[in-house]
Amino acid sequence: MRREELIGFVGVDIGGQSTRVGIFDQRGRLKVISFPTEGNFRTECEAIVTAIKKLNVDRVRRIGVGSPGPLDWKKRLVYDTPNLPWRKVNFGLLEEMSGWSVLLDNDANVAGLGEATMGRGRGKRFIAGFTLGTGIGHFQVKDGRIYHGRLDVEAGHQILDPQGPKCNCGQRGCLEAFVSAVAIERRYGKPPHLLNDPKAWKEIAYRLAQGLVNVAVHTSPDVLILTGGMLARGRLLFDPLRRYYEAMLKVYPPAYRPPVLAAQLGDKAGVVGAIVLAKVGHSD
Ligand SMILES: [Zn+2]
Repeated sequence: MRREELIGFVGVDIGGQSTRVGIFDQRGRLKVISFPTEGNFRTECEAIVTAIKKLNVDRVRRIGVGSPGPLDWKKRLVYDTPNLPWRKVNFGLLEEMSGWSVLLDNDANVAGLGEATMGRGRGKRFIAGFTLGTGIGHFQVKDGRIYHGRLDVEAGHQILDPQGPKCNCGQRGCLEAFVSAVAIERRYGKPPHLLNDPKAWKEIAYRLAQGLVNVAVHTSPDVLILTGGMLARGRLLFDPLRRYYEAMLKVYPPAYRPPVLAAQLGDKAGVVGAIVLAKVGHSD
């Protein structure tokens, strides 16, 4: 997708700490305004509208929003989420207050859409991947649009070991219970950015490779993309990850194994993906 096609579409990336509001300007440059996420939902919507006005958009065409879930994108409802101060809020309010139409999706899907269309997955038809953060989000993007089932695909909660560590979802041994930042800190006593023990990273990479292989054999994507701050650890993670992944994914001939790639857009993936969502909409 070309940046000129995205002019007039606004992306909003909501996180527990901060909210980013962004657009592509007439020259195709990404402009972003950030502010601390408001504790009150109405105040948050007001702050978003103020930021859009500050960005000086000629004519706003639509707003795309990425938010932590659980959420119902069709109804634009965000349910109780541990990462945000709000309880069951409806983004219809933002539409009412601003007069611009609003689309909502979960943050992993939206970041994935950004990477798939404007980042590492550009030019590929079917992209799947994980967002590695406090939790493990999953996304699938087909033909430039987010894929949904009845609800979001929760591949971060695939069970890798039923006797494994307890997961926030109530199950044991989910992928998230092994490789999320919280799980890593719990198991190794250090958050991922301070963890330097190659043996620990080999264990983490082994579990992540299992998760990626399971996604590959269930969906056969063109590429698998990983996003999140943990990628800054580079070869500590990627060297053992690629080795395990290649060793485990036997069923496809090597030329058909989806490569595992690091995201390109960094912390801009969410806001870029939200702009793209505003443009392309949902497919179902
Ligand atoms: Zn789980």
